[in-house]
Amino acid sequence: MNPFFTKNLLAWNQDLNTRMMPWKGEKDPYKIWISEIILQQTRVEQGLRYYEKFIQTFSTVCSLAHAPEQDVFKLWEGLGYYSRCKNLLTSARFICDQLNGKFPDTYEEIRELKGVGAYTAAAIASFAYQLPYAVVDGNVMRVLSRYFSISEPVDTTEGKKKYTQLAGDLLDRERPDLYNQAIMDFGAVVCKPQQPACTRCPLQSGCLAYKQGRVHELPLKKKGVRKRSRWLYYFVIIYQGEVCIRKRTGRDIWENLYEFVLQEVDTPFFIEDESVLQQNLRALLGHTDFTIRTISHEYRQELTHQTVTGKFVEVELHAPSPHLSGYERVSRPALDQYPFPRFITRYLQNTVD
Ligand code: SF4
Repeated sequence: MNPFFTKNLLAWNQDLNTRMMPWKGEKDPYKIWISEIILQQTRVEQGLRYYEKFIQTFSTVCSLAHAPEQDVFKLWEGLGYYSRCKNLLTSARFICDQLNGKFPDTYEEIRELKGVGAYTAAAIASFAYQLPYAVVDGNVMRVLSRYFSISEPVDTTEGKKKYTQLAGDLLDRERPDLYNQAIMDFGAVVCKPQQPACTRCPLQSGCLAYKQGRVHELPLKKKGVRKRSRWLYYFVIIYQGEVCIRKRTGRDIWENLYEFVLQEVDTPFFIEDESVLQQNLRALLGHTDFTIRTISHEYRQELTHQTVTGKFVEVELHAPSPHLSGYERVSRPALDQYPFPRFITRYLQNTVD
């Protein structure tokens, strides 16, 4: 416990913290859970819209549990990290079916829900039930690393352990909800990643990084991981006005979302070369005749650990291809009802007739 740190943080929260969020002060564990899952990898400004849509559409855990999967993914469309949505549904069904719709009320049980890690469990346990668990995420570790001038990297198991221990020691056990909200907000608006507001910081007189001139050096990270590059060629195969799509399966990005006929390669090829393109299409479609309509410009999307690059080739079939039996055929307007990854919705938005 560091009385100066905790006391001044709470005083700042009471007198100066003007950060508004619709779920602030919320006590309903279901709503807190939805907001925390959305915010796991999403900025507050973007997450807000989705939170409101979710709560309006599925006002209780059982209404979410009973919703058709496609509708839930459609609502999540554009938010990315779709495994969050899948886990949300799995957990909602578990709570509704196995726990009679009653949200678990101990840290351990909350932590057992699919998609709920230590941070989210601490947030739900403290906000909904005032249980004494400290939240520890990048924001919190940055504040602690600077205030205590800790050089331990924040992205190692050892580092996380150390910051978790320290965060637990600092927690105000009488008011864990207030304290957790205060440190999260403080990291977001005062001790920010770039240009922290040290000159008006209420913790400045005790801040070791400030005294030692290390503010911009901390927190430290171990060297970043190299991103994997993926090249996707999407063939938008159309027959009699209907487009072939299928649901992505397997443990990969965009699981449960829909896509066109895909050819993924390790190194890109020059798809504009007519003979190369013909050859690739033959491999995909067999002997069915086709006409190539358009080739898109290059699309790129940066994911956390991957860079995805690709193009879209629109192809008109002259007859159905037996090679595409695993695909659904959907009219162009009906595509709107299916959830697609952002990589594909960007292409669709650019090709609206
Ligand atoms: S003085 Fe600067 S670095 Fe230290 S806690 Fe305040 S904002 Fe963060």
